[in-house]
Amino acid sequence: MRVLCPECGEKARIQKSNRLTNSVADLYCACGDPECGHTFVMNLSYSHTLSPSAKTTSQIAFNLVKALPPEQRQQLKHQLSML
Ligand SMILES: [Zn+2]
Repeated sequence: MRVLCPECGEKARIQKSNRLTNSVADLYCACGDPECGHTFVMNLSYSHTLSPSAKTTSQIAFNLVKALPPEQRQQLKHQLSML
């Protein structure tokens, strides 16, 4: 991942990261231009999903099946066995 110095636009190095949660981290950066020397903190954060996690998808499917009445569950089992 490329970080640019917000003061001069040169490439900066990530020197340390401080993970706050699974979706947010502080990145401690230093400008690569010795004439600038700017050190700063950038935030790295989760934005949005493009394709859902397979783990989440199967959990949703499992919860949907659990919510079905027994006879519909049997019917679904039969349909799935034909795949
Ligand atoms: Zn700079």
